[in-house]
Amino acid sequence: MAGYTYYYVTTVGPKTRWRCSTHSSRGCSAHLYTINDTLFSTKGSHTHPPRDSILF
Ligand SMILES: [Zn+2]
Repeated sequence: MAGYTYYYVTTVGPKTRWRCSTHSSRGCSAHLYTINDTLFSTKGSHTHPPRDSILF
């Protein structure tokens, strides 16, 4: 998780979905869900090394 950045995708019920910020540029399929701003679960694997900036 550390070192990866995500952008908002959608909110479904109590869960907010975020997608890896490199999805468009590098085709990374990793994403995660938060509930009330707390990490709930992660899905997929990153296809690239982490970045310097950290969101989660
Ligand atoms: Zn990624």
